[in-house]
Amino acid sequence: SIVVTGATGRLGRLVIDALLTSVPAESVAAVVRDKDKAADLAERGVELRVADYDRPETLADAFGSGDRVLLISGNEVGRRLPQHEAVVTAAKAAGVAQLAYTGILGGPEADFVLADEHKATERAILDSGLPYTFLRNGWYTENYTDNLAPVLAHGAVVSNAGEGRVASAARADYAAAAAAVLTGPLDEHLGKAYELSGDVSWSLAEYAAEVARLSGRAISFTNVPAETHREILVGAGVPRPFAEILVDVDEAVARGALAARGDDLSRLIGRPTTPVAETIEAALAAS
Ligand code: NDP
Repeated sequence: SIVVTGATGRLGRLVIDALLTSVPAESVAAVVRDKDKAADLAERGVELRVADYDRPETLADAFGSGDRVLLISGNEVGRRLPQHEAVVTAAKAAGVAQLAYTGILGGPEADFVLADEHKATERAILDSGLPYTFLRNGWYTENYTDNLAPVLAHGAVVSNAGEGRVASAARADYAAAAAAVLTGPLDEHLGKAYELSGDVSWSLAEYAAEVARLSGRAISFTNVPAETHREILVGAGVPRPFAEILVDVDEAVARGALAARGDDLSRLIGRPTTPVAETIEAALAAS
């Protein structure tokens, strides 16, 4: 089977959608921790396997010999390494044919706090000896467009990323890439680390200008020192530890850590990555 963990998440659902365009539903299995949340997937003919990264014993039946597995990284920053290690151990015990993992652009070279668990997970996968494919995902454009409401309310994009450029792509682009490595020839994808970034990179000033153009409102870009940005985020209700991580990410953006790294993404999906304007338009239409 082709097995997708985190299948009820936003990326996971898009991976399932992409898989179902090219393989029959009975060859796809979804690892989910909440069966009710996955009722629609079951309805589409996808097999459900219930397991929780936090309870290693539940992972024993999540994978079978010869499965091609996508481990979608968890969303609880700080707890992810043991969670991912539990999945790696279970995949190893089952004898899967491929473990694909959604890591971070740059892999071992990614020099910001949010990358630490991804780097450690890649090391754990390499140490396990499992046949792997690393999907080193750059930023989702939605990381920015999910935050359009305050941008429109204040008429400003505020950041400490300076003139740093971001080669983002839509979540659906990364999902299509994951589906491609799970369905394509194994010998083509095993032992590979794909650096996945959008075709076009942009600065936050350019992003603000694009939001202004598409919304018809005046939107400025305001670069502020890291400490100022952190206090603005905390003031807006972001928990302090997460605000620290976001500010650290913006410093990485300023250093170019999330800028373009080749064309692996558009090559894997066989089309250009989704233009940022398209994702902004979709978010504006939904707001
Ligand atoms: P979501 O938060 O929508 O999905 C995360 C998925 O992980 C959910 O399906 C969730 O299950 C599942 N999960 C979390 N903890 C556990 C657990 N203990 N056991 C089993 N499953 C678990 O994130 P996205 O889909 O948007 O992104 C996927 C991942 O990519 C994120 O988890 C994060 O690691 C990373 N990410 C990357 C970004 C980027 O720009 N490259 C930005 C943001 C995140 P459930 O549905 O039950 O909650």
